[in-house]
Amino acid sequence: MAEKNTRLKIFHAGYCTHPEHIILRNKNRKDIPFPAMFALIMHPQRGPMLFDTGYSERFFSETKRFPSSIYRRITPVHFSEKDAAAHQLQQYGVAAKDIQYVVISHFHADHIAALGDFPNAKYIYLAKAFDDVRNRKGISALIRAFLPGLIPRDFMERSITIDRKPPVELPLDYIPFRWGWDLCEDMSVIAVELPGHAVGQIGLFINTDVKTRYFLIADACWLQQSYQQNIMPHPITRLLFADYKEYRKTLEKIHQIYLERPQLHIIPSHCMKTVTQHEHNTQS
Ligand SMILES: [Zn+2]
Repeated sequence: MAEKNTRLKIFHAGYCTHPEHIILRNKNRKDIPFPAMFALIMHPQRGPMLFDTGYSERFFSETKRFPSSIYRRITPVHFSEKDAAAHQLQQYGVAAKDIQYVVISHFHADHIAALGDFPNAKYIYLAKAFDDVRNRKGISALIRAFLPGLIPRDFMERSITIDRKPPVELPLDYIPFRWGWDLCEDMSVIAVELPGHAVGQIGLFINTDVKTRYFLIADACWLQQSYQQNIMPHPITRLLFADYKEYRKTLEKIHQIYLERPQLHIIPSHCMKTVTQHEHNTQS
């Protein structure tokens, strides 16, 4: 019998390290690991798609020279070939050439470094997210954590911007999120805007069956304690964020849905605890 449900599998491709106190405003100056999460979504009609890609070898070749070498120094990256998304997917039984879509949460290097490894995928994102970075080079790209060399040459031809269609009004159980884009036209994969961290950042609600809903929130916050307790990161992170006020509003919304929907699985891309837990629990 044909599989009817959408399935989800969580992975991560490499990680970087940062001191914990920057995120939780506590006294812990120790470096902790931040995984670069990516997700495989198996849709019964649309086929396999990804949410982000994590790091890749290309991150290293693109950060060899100044000024992008600064990026690598600020966030030391741990990655080996076997961590690559394409490699892990192959181990899992999904060939890179079969990936139909890559949904891009935002254009920071740790989310898009392997875009070029999926030769037949269409790229799905909010137009303004790419518009914000597409003409940036050098320092101007660096302050957006954007490495232009990670964008495949045929990127535009393979792009499908989400907002070419109007969003749909979401059912009440998504409140405070009111509008979203129904990517597979069956309400199984819904993109919502999560602005603040980066211009046009999106997250995905994924309904794998009537009872199970995931919310992939990308970099709307970095650790689960942040949305559980509504903790804003250290003000120094203002330098990284596109809009600090919007970031606060987005975090408050996630905090609210967390309080109202205890069954919802919220997954920040860089929370090692959450990502590892779901790497074990999700299957496809
Ligand atoms: Zn980011």
